[in-house]
Amino acid sequence: MYAQVIIDQDAKALDKEFEYRVPTGLNIEVGMRVLVPFGSRQLQGFVIGMTEECHYDSSKIKDIIASVDDYACIKSELLILMQYMAKKNHLKLASILRLFIPSQMRDGSVHDLFENNYSLSANYKDIRLSKSAKKQQEIIDFFENSLEKTLKSENLSQFSYSALKSLIDKGVIERSKVKVNRVPLVLDVDEKKVELNQDQLHAIDTIKEDRTYLLHGVTGSGKTEVYINLIKRVLKEGKSAIMLVPEISLTPQIMANFKSRFGQSVALLHSGLSKGERFDEWKRLFSGEAKIAIGARSAIFAPLENLGMIIIDEEHESSYISESNPRFSTHDVASFRARFNHCPLVLGSATPSIESYQKAVNGEYQLVELPIRANGKEMPKIQIVDMMNELRAGNSGIFSNQLLADLVNIINNKKQAMIFINRRGYSSFMRCRDCGYIAKCTNCDVSLVYHKEDERLKCHYCGAQFKVLTHCPNCHSEHVKHGAVGTESVAKALKEYFPDVEILRMDNDTTSTKNAHQKILSKFAHTKPAILVGTQMIAKGHDFEDVLLVGIVDADQGLYQADYRSTERTFALITQVAGRAGRSQEQGKVILQTYSPRHYVYKFASNYDYKGFFRKEENIRQTAQFPPFTRIIRLLFASEDENYVRENLKVCYTEIEKLKDIYQDQIIYMDAMKSPIKRMQNKYRYQILMRLKLDKADEIENKVFEIADKHSKNSVFFEINPQNMT
Ligand code: ADP
Ligand code: ZN
Ligand code: ZN
Repeated sequence: MYAQVIIDQDAKALDKEFEYRVPTGLNIEVGMRVLVPFGSRQLQGFVIGMTEECHYDSSKIKDIIASVDDYACIKSELLILMQYMAKKNHLKLASILRLFIPSQMRDGSVHDLFENNYSLSANYKDIRLSKSAKKQQEIIDFFENSLEKTLKSENLSQFSYSALKSLIDKGVIERSKVKVNRVPLVLDVDEKKVELNQDQLHAIDTIKEDRTYLLHGVTGSGKTEVYINLIKRVLKEGKSAIMLVPEISLTPQIMANFKSRFGQSVALLHSGLSKGERFDEWKRLFSGEAKIAIGARSAIFAPLENLGMIIIDEEHESSYISESNPRFSTHDVASFRARFNHCPLVLGSATPSIESYQKAVNGEYQLVELPIRANGKEMPKIQIVDMMNELRAGNSGIFSNQLLADLVNIINNKKQAMIFINRRGYSSFMRCRDCGYIAKCTNCDVSLVYHKEDERLKCHYCGAQFKVLTHCPNCHSEHVKHGAVGTESVAKALKEYFPDVEILRMDNDTTSTKNAHQKILSKFAHTKPAILVGTQMIAKGHDFEDVLLVGIVDADQGLYQADYRSTERTFALITQVAGRAGRSQEQGKVILQTYSPRHYVYKFASNYDYKGFFRKEENIRQTAQFPPFTRIIRLLFASEDENYVRENLKVCYTEIEKLKDIYQDQIIYMDAMKSPIKRMQNKYRYQILMRLKLDKADEIENKVFEIADKHSKNSVFFEINPQNMT
C-alpha cells in the first residue's frame, strides 16, 4: 500500500501530497498522523489518501517510519472539508489540517491522563504477611473498612508508599491504570422550567430541513431555549450537534445552561480551557461519548459524525471571521458541514449582519422570527442624551446628569446597573497637547495605550511595554496627557460618586486569568446594589434579573472608523447592551450618551427598529458600492524585509493590473499601498485592495489569487470583505 501524505510544515513548497510506502506490519489508515523521512529529516505528516498502486517511481519511494497516534485523528468528512477550504479560501493544506486537532497534539505536549486505582486482590486472604508488617496490615484494614472497593492514591496518602508497594509486589493489592477526564469548570445554575411560547414552538417546528435558517429574535426572546429544544430533538434522532457562541465571555452562562440540560453529552471547546481539558473534551467528541460541541469559532471543526444541526449564535459577530492565518469564514465552513450532513444550519441573532439578512430577504435563507421577549415584557426604553448639551451646561464629566440620577435610583432600590464602554485600559493614547505627538509602538506603528495599574504604555498588537512619558520626545513639552476614558477610569469615577457601592470591572485586563470571568460574574450576581463596568464582554449573553439600568458612556466610539461596517456594528452593540436591562419582571432603561444624537443609527436603535435600519443601511451600501453589493479583496503582504515585500507587491500588482484590460467594467477600485498599520510584530505590511462588482467576482478572485500565489513565497494573506482593515 501507498499513502499520500501532507507534511506538517509551513513552507509553501511542501504544500502538496508526498507519497510513501506503508511497510508491512504497520497499521496505517487515512486520517492518521505519521512520521516520515524527508530529505535528511524526520517530519510529521497527515495521511490524506491511500492507494494500492504507486504514482511515482516505486524504487525511489520511502517507507513511513511510524504512526504518531494509534487512531486516525482526522475523520473523512474533515478531509473533504479540507479540499473545499483550500479552494475557497486559498489556503495551504497543512494549515487547514492543523485546525482539526488540538494544537498541543502536534508538539506532543498533551496526552491522556491516567491515575492509579488500588483494590484488594481476590485471593488476598491467602497471602501471608509477616507479623512485624504492621503498616501493611493497617492498609489492609483500611481497605476492609472502606465503603469503596477501589481507592485512589489520594485516599491512601496517609500510608507509607513502601508499605503499599510491598503489598502490591506480594499480590495483596492490585494496581490498575484508569484514564481520567480533565473536566472544565462550569457555573452551577438552577434549571429553569419554561413553557415554550407560540413563536418558539413555531421556530422549533420550522427548523428541520436541509437548509439555512436565520433566526431573528429580539434580545430576551428566548433563542437559547429554541436551541436547546432543537438539540434535544437531534439527540433523540441519534445525531450530534455543534453550537457556536462568539467568544469566551458568553460561555460561562451558556455552558452552565447546556451542561444542566445535557450533562456529559456536552463538550466544551474554548480558549479558557487548559490544554489537558481541551484535549479530553476533543477526545470525548471524537469517540462519540459527547454529542454536542459548544464553543467559539474553532468548534466548527469538532470531530463529530452524523451532525443533525449546526447553530451559530450571534451570527453577526466579527469574531466568526478568522483574522489570523489561516483566514476562513465560520459561516462558510458551517454551511459546508451542514450541506454535507444534510442538516439545518441556524444563524441566530437579534441584529443579523446585513449580508445574512439580505440573504433572508432574497429567500436564500429562511427567516424565522421571535419578535417579542419571552417574558412578554417591553424592551427597555432607550433614552438618548446629548453630551454636547451637558458640556454647554457646564458638565464636562464622564456621566450625564440623567445617568447619575438613574444610578442613584438603582442604588436606593438595591438593584443593579451595567455601564458599558467601548474601550480597554484606564484611558487610551498619550498625546502631547502642544505639538500633537502621539506615543507609538516601535514595532507596530500603532498608538500605545496607557495602563494606569502598572503605569505603562502597552501595544495591543504585539504586547510591547514602554515607560510612561513625562515629557514630549518631539518638543520637550511637559503637557503630555492621556486621552479618553476607559473602564478603569469609569470605575474609579463611580467609586468617587458611590463609595459604598460594589463597583465591578470586566475587561481584558481583569479577565486575563483562568476563570476570572466566572468569578466576576458570580460576584456580580450575588451583590446588590452593584454596578458592573465593562467592555464588549458585558454586552452579550448575560442574563441578570436585577439589572434595570444600562449606561452607554460614549456610544459614538467606533462609529467614525474607516470601516464600512462601523454603523452596523454600532447598531448591534447598542441593541445587545440594551438587551441586558430589565430581563425579568421589572421594566429596564438605557441611557445612551452621544455627541452626535441625530445620527440615523441612534434613531433606529432606540426604537429597536432592525428592519428600518436594514433598509437604510442596505440603501447606503448600494449607493456607495460596498458589500454585500460588491466584493472587497485584500491581499496583504508581510515580511521583515521591507524591500522584499515592496518588490513582491510591485510584481504582483503589475500583473493584477492587467486584469483591467479584460474586466474594466467589473473593477470599481484597485490600488496598492502600505497597510494602515504599516508594521506589526516586526513585519512590514503592504496591501493590494480591490473592490469588484459581483457578476464576475469569483472569476477575478481566482485569477488574482493565482497571480499572488505564483509570485510570492509565503507571505500573502488573502481576505474577502475583511472585518478589520488594519
Ligand atoms: P435571547 O438569547 O433570545 O436574548 P434568552 O434565551 O437568553 O434570550 O432568554 C431570555 C430569558 O427568557 C431567559 O431567562 C430564559 O430563561 C427566559 N425564557 C426563555 N423562553 C421562555 C419562555 N417560553 N417563557 C418564559 N421565559 C422564557
Ligand atoms: Zn510635543
Ligand atoms: Zn507593537
